[in-house]
Amino acid sequence: MSSSFTRVLRPALRGGRGLATRAATANGLARQAAPRVNVAHRRSASSSSASASAARPLSTTPARRSDAPVDISDIPPTPISHLSEVEAAMAESVSKFAAEVVLPRARDMDEAEAMDPALVEQLFEQGLMGVEIPEEYGGAGMNFTSAIIGIEELARADPSVSVMVDVHNTLCNTAILNYASPALKKKWLPRLATNTVASFCLSEPVSGSDAFALATKATETDAGFKISGGKMWITNSMEADLFIVFANLDPSKGYRGITAFLVEKGTPGFSIAKKEKKLGIRASSTCVLNFDDVEIPKENLLGERGQGYKYAIGLLNEGRIGIAAQMTGLALGAFDNAVRYVWNDRRQFGSLVGEFQGMQHQIAQAYTEIAAARALVYNAARKKEAGEDFVRDAAMAKLYAAQVAGKVSGQAVEWMGGMGFVREGLAEKFFRDSKIGAIYEGTSNIQLNTIAKLLQKEYTN
Ligand SMILES: Cc1cc2nc3c(=O)[nH]c(=O)nc-3n(C[C@H](O)[C@H](O)[C@H](O)COP(=O)(O)OP(=O)(O)OC[C@H]3O[C@@H](n4cnc5c(N)ncnc54)[C@H](O)[C@@H]3O)c2cc1C
Repeated sequence: MSSSFTRVLRPALRGGRGLATRAATANGLARQAAPRVNVAHRRSASSSSASASAARPLSTTPARRSDAPVDISDIPPTPISHLSEVEAAMAESVSKFAAEVVLPRARDMDEAEAMDPALVEQLFEQGLMGVEIPEEYGGAGMNFTSAIIGIEELARADPSVSVMVDVHNTLCNTAILNYASPALKKKWLPRLATNTVASFCLSEPVSGSDAFALATKATETDAGFKISGGKMWITNSMEADLFIVFANLDPSKGYRGITAFLVEKGTPGFSIAKKEKKLGIRASSTCVLNFDDVEIPKENLLGERGQGYKYAIGLLNEGRIGIAAQMTGLALGAFDNAVRYVWNDRRQFGSLVGEFQGMQHQIAQAYTEIAAARALVYNAARKKEAGEDFVRDAAMAKLYAAQVAGKVSGQAVEWMGGMGFVREGLAEKFFRDSKIGAIYEGTSNIQLNTIAKLLQKEYTN
């Protein structure tokens, strides 16, 4: 395998605002300048070169939507950080896009508490909104790990942009790919890949961790269904045109009545009631939604009646790997930003502050923890792609990556002293953004519950 396929914790191709920018370092972690390719434009070349490779390492697992196990017995084990050619291209191109297009907007979007619409268009142009959507529907036709890598790279520049891409790809696109009728796929996948943002609407004022206590109801009508109730905390809702809504079609069956529906923006009775003002990821929209007897046609039933809870569990298990990748990228972004400062710019007592051993040990510890978080994330992604049970791995990855993001971004503020605390640079923003990792797509306690439950099952006679 070529050394260019080996992925290390790369230095980013940038510096923070007002800080030194270095494209490469002399410590062996540098990589070649990223090729100027976008995912959308290179997908044909990538897929043909990937299929030409006869003996594939595990890391080249192609996109697959079947639950059937993959026979990997004749594949030699490789380090978890190795990427296929397609994945490496994804990492390089998204890293460059994040550094050149996302990072310069991150501070202003945070202050404005809004996503720049021009950036959303560029995410579509780059192919980042349809990573796993097959090429026949206008998507990039790449694998799950490629999506995870894209989410991580974007979070190094702006975790708000990263979560927009994450929710759209890992929850919404996957919901349509896995459960929609052929007609719905034909209608929505080309749009989701090219111009339509989607939201995933499960949480409500009464149901957060206990998601299936939701109170939104659906009733069957002659023409289709009527949805009544409200959703809360819905990511992407200011930008979205398509809403995947979970409602109970038969409350007498409890959570087994939960069913998934598609609601289009503009449907009478549907409205955004409130946009939340938040601690972090402030450019990402989070809204309260009202469904006031919203009538939708029969065709907008997603999958089967009463299967919504199963779909939500499955989607969130995958989605958690995306949030873990977001948190890993965030930790790396905070690390890059601060370490450049302490090793290049700031001198005290006649030395760069990063030369004091008390600082160096903290930096080394932080880097080790980021590497461990990334290993958990990639391992969970690879297990999912291999068709193995990945539920505990996804929970461990999300739990740990969120902890590392909180710890490292907090330390990064301290390493930069007063410069870390002011809103000129990005250190304080990464710190604020990190908190959400322990909350959405299952709080840290909920991840611990999942891990403990699965462990207990394994250890009980
Ligand atoms: C910015 C943001 C974006 C979001 N985006 C979306 C979205 O796009 N779509 C969507 O559907 N939802 C979304 N959510 C909702 C998110 O998934 C919930 O906030 C999360 O599941 C926690 O629910 P809660 O806020 O009601 O907290 P609660 O469930 O009220 O939890 C409060 C505390 O109690 C603890 N707790 C609860 N139950 C247990 C238990 N059994 N054992 C131990 N501790 C427990 C929790 O860990 C937490 O510390 C978003 C939330 C935020 C803040």
